[in-house]
Amino acid sequence: MKKLVSLFLTLMMALSLTAAPAQAAVPEKTVWNLSAIYPNKAAFESEFTQAEKQISTLAALRGKLSTIDRVVDYYKGHNELYRLIGRLDSYANLQVYMDLSNSTAKELSGRVVNLSAEASARLSYALPELFANSAVFLDEAAKDAGMAPYLNEFTRDRINSAHTLPEAEEQLLQPVYLLQNGAANLFSSLVNSDMPFPNITFPDGTEKKADEINYNLVMTGEYTQEFRKEYSNDMLGAYGQYRNTLAQNLQNQYTAITKIAAAHRYNSALDAELSSGDTPASVYNSVFDAAKQAMPVQTRYYALLKKSFNLGTIYNSDMNMSLCKASDITYPYTDAQTLVKAALAPLGEDYAAKLDTLMNSAMDVYPAKNKLSGCFTMQVPGTHPYILLNYNNDFDSASNMAHELGHGVHMLYSQTQESTYNQGVTSLTSEVTSTLNQLLFSDYMMKNAKTEEERQYYAARELSFMKASFFTQVFFARFQESAVQEVENGKTLTTDKLDKLWMDAAREYLLPGKSIVINDSFANGWARIPHFYQGFYVYQYAVGIAAACNIADRIESGEQGAVEDYLTFLKAGNSGNAVELLKLTGIDISNGSYIQAFTARFERLLSEFDTAN
Ligand SMILES: [Zn+2]
Repeated sequence: MKKLVSLFLTLMMALSLTAAPAQAAVPEKTVWNLSAIYPNKAAFESEFTQAEKQISTLAALRGKLSTIDRVVDYYKGHNELYRLIGRLDSYANLQVYMDLSNSTAKELSGRVVNLSAEASARLSYALPELFANSAVFLDEAAKDAGMAPYLNEFTRDRINSAHTLPEAEEQLLQPVYLLQNGAANLFSSLVNSDMPFPNITFPDGTEKKADEINYNLVMTGEYTQEFRKEYSNDMLGAYGQYRNTLAQNLQNQYTAITKIAAAHRYNSALDAELSSGDTPASVYNSVFDAAKQAMPVQTRYYALLKKSFNLGTIYNSDMNMSLCKASDITYPYTDAQTLVKAALAPLGEDYAAKLDTLMNSAMDVYPAKNKLSGCFTMQVPGTHPYILLNYNNDFDSASNMAHELGHGVHMLYSQTQESTYNQGVTSLTSEVTSTLNQLLFSDYMMKNAKTEEERQYYAARELSFMKASFFTQVFFARFQESAVQEVENGKTLTTDKLDKLWMDAAREYLLPGKSIVINDSFANGWARIPHFYQGFYVYQYAVGIAAACNIADRIESGEQGAVEDYLTFLKAGNSGNAVELLKLTGIDISNGSYIQAFTARFERLLSEFDTAN
């Protein structure tokens, strides 16, 4: 029942199931109150029963989907089921994320998973039956007034129906899905539990693991070039010890998605992913053209980095360095709320009121014992979304809050759509709203900085964020596509082959010219990326940041109609495909011209440092 559940889970970013460190008792408004979903457990049980009845009502439409009225009934009823399962699922899982050791909540969550599976099995008749009707009938149905709230969903189902298999054939494919999930699970178990990372002595004498937990801290913090290099070599070397296992595992993963796509009569695994989300291939391809155009600003970035820190040589382990030193300014939560609200004030009073709603009732703010790490926003049908943070008073915490509030307000606006399906938001459009907020926030902080140093700090943070969201993701996307193509062409993903594909993609999109010297361990990088087990996801981050730059420019320059266009886009929810929806903001993501706002902004931020040096 992937579709049913995933609609509400698309925005759970950075979900690594590890608990955050404990923190002392916190005031109540910074902890979730789930009574906005159900006042008590009895209310949960009552909707659970309602959902079971709804499944039976929909199952009873079997054999009747040949009149338009019954088709409308089906979509209407199915959306009601979406709504119920979304609420049940949120209520159970939000409790799990607050306390990963809560076995009662896990049991509740398990019951919702089983309910979804039951719905999936009993309603699997519906789409094959519906799309066995004549094209004339289906065209008529699409035009029917009663279908209007469900048209986007119907259109996507119709596109996908050409790729639907009879139930028996779908059953035969189950072992291939198991292979796909197995590879993803093996990756997670190996790198999160079993893989031994070596100890490393930090400059202050403490001994820690050279692992992913401290990686960002070291790569972006104030350490010597030698220490960064040593850390990076040690950590990537640990992955290197499992190169053959992880290469075979990627081979398994890509064999599975390739076979599944071919069985459903798609041209390729990439085609399957794009078609099922109704995303034209031009959107995907344009990202690579855009990155080519943007490469000169990356070259300039590294030239400035070299100059700012007096580096004779830049190694790949220096690439995540920020252009200026860390700041010791802190951003307590309530201060950050005020700053974020001020930064987003140009979006208007209605947007501000929605921010208040979320800040007053939707946030679980601080790290706590057994709480999930990272940040996410979860949509809950019928009430406000719930936002999880692990706030620790630094700039990134404040910026992440602005990010999650972008998702949250988008979800509140999309509730103006009638059907539950259209109220959902897809990852491609949603990442635009969250990254836009981060841009507006750091621009506001730059504008209001008290010193030149502080101003440069914000500019440097924005540049790092833009670089990581765009160039790194395009590099990942290119590597992944070539690796999948190798498998599609019947080749084997040997470690040597993966090293070469990784280096080729890096040379193309990550390492401008010959300005960066590569440590030997760099080639192991393909072995450590969890996104390579999650379909073709990463290109969406690149589109998201570039689109957000366009919208930010329009809003910040005070362009007439810019805010109205943006709000129209937010209210449109999931009522069209990403190209149609983003057109509402004046951007065409089907060609790479949208990159100009990204490169111009990048140049502008770089010039903050040119004048100072
Ligand atoms: Zn996000």
